[in-house]
Amino acid sequence: MKAQPKASHFIDGAYVEDTAGTVIESVYPATGEVIAKLHAATPAIVERAIASAKRAQKEWAALSPTARGRVLKKAAEIMRARNRELSELETLDTGKPIQETIVADPTSGADSLEFFGGIAAAGMNGSHIPLGGDFAYTKRVPLGVCLGIGAWNYPQQICCWKAAPALAAGNAMIFKPSEVTPLGALKIAEILIEAGAPKGLFNVIQGDRDTGPLLVNHPDIAKVSLTGSVPTGRKVAGAAAGQLKHVTMELGGKSPLIVFDDADLESAISGAMLGNFYSTGQVCSNGTRVFVHRAIKERFLERLKERTEAILIGDPQNEATQMGPLVSFAQREKVLSYMEKGKAEGARLITGGGIPNTVSGQGAFVQPTVFADVTDDMTIAREEIFGPVMCVLDFDDETDVIARANATEFGLAGGVFTADLTRAHRVVDQLEAGTLWINTYNLCPVEMPFGGSKQSGFGRENSLAALEHYSELKTVYVGMGACEAPY
Ligand code: NAD
Repeated sequence: MKAQPKASHFIDGAYVEDTAGTVIESVYPATGEVIAKLHAATPAIVERAIASAKRAQKEWAALSPTARGRVLKKAAEIMRARNRELSELETLDTGKPIQETIVADPTSGADSLEFFGGIAAAGMNGSHIPLGGDFAYTKRVPLGVCLGIGAWNYPQQICCWKAAPALAAGNAMIFKPSEVTPLGALKIAEILIEAGAPKGLFNVIQGDRDTGPLLVNHPDIAKVSLTGSVPTGRKVAGAAAGQLKHVTMELGGKSPLIVFDDADLESAISGAMLGNFYSTGQVCSNGTRVFVHRAIKERFLERLKERTEAILIGDPQNEATQMGPLVSFAQREKVLSYMEKGKAEGARLITGGGIPNTVSGQGAFVQPTVFADVTDDMTIAREEIFGPVMCVLDFDDETDVIARANATEFGLAGGVFTADLTRAHRVVDQLEAGTLWINTYNLCPVEMPFGGSKQSGFGRENSLAALEHYSELKTVYVGMGACEAPY
């Protein structure tokens, strides 16, 4: 098999297998070929991973932050040196075109390791609090063994976005990739060992929705960081709350992207396409509700159709391919059913709407699709589709469009295209979302915090903010005189 790893899990610095675990087949969605067979973790594997992480965490937390940072920076360097190999694996794991993975996946993971490696030293400082003779100080301390649970759309990126701040802060991490994309995280575990991380500091164990709870409910897990859907988020946060664990929830969205009539049209169309078609539309922060001012709507749709129909769909391993298949055949069924709902509920199909006839029938491909005349109550305007399906809605008035944009349980992201700087800031200020873009879309450099509000989750990844979510304050009061008591 094309991408068979040495074993399913990576624990205590080595590959480990337990064939008693249920079989997980890794399928390359461009062809349907099974490229690897792995096993979900058994309870014995879970215990082994947690025990080794607990040991490693103590050793790791005792290092200076600079020494920890050095390991992470070395890992970033190795990832960059192996970018091609890691990108090819990411393409096999997800079906995303190599054109994307080579610039957006291992490189984003490496950025994260480099950034947190660099700020590990300064980012963990505490403070001194003068109290008039007496004083107090705070220390920022790690939480212990953290659990990362990944989604399937950015397997290597998600793995690093969780591991880098967790490890920088002095924690150990157990990472469970999505059962749909189990391969990339194992390579990152190998790289961290090669970079000098202690054995057990970063363990990868495979599993599905039955394995997740074994980890989330384990008393030795101090924190859970999940990237996944809202229903999974509710379950995982609920289970973690039972033991008052720290949680970060990076969940789904149905984000608004508002295009005003003074926007640069080509630029706004680029933003809408990036925010709906990149990674075959499987991006949580996508601006899937594109509100376009009625005055420019038809021109917008005309150019959008032209540019969408020019997208090169096909073999993800071909450097020229711009759009690959969806991650799985199950996901394709889901996306196709939403396309049918859009048609049935009366949206105007501008382009796409089914399976492309230009690619082999074997893969989980769908056409990049645009619906216009979408209304707020349609299913395709309310539910997260997680595929390349753009809904274009009309608007006339700023106040009204803001209210409509906010009329959703989600609050992950949003964007605005306009030439009016004042309006841009006024609008984003009122949009209820954790991450917003003005005159661009979906850019997530590691320097800026990323995360959602409302049902899209809480906690933040990336930036200095992420370190706070992987550590806690310890406060020490220091009495400088005799201790006085009224008794
Ligand atoms: P999912 O919710 O089905 O699964 C996510 C992960 O949770 C998987 O690893 C799965 O095995 C695990 N899991 C499922 N049930 C569990 C349970 N009860 N306990 C513990 N773990 C459990 O999501 P998915 O289909 O893999 O990914 C798509 C979703 O992820 C979309 O909703 C998307 O918006 C969201 N997402 C969010 C972000 C973000 O940063 N906000 C990024 C990428 C994807």
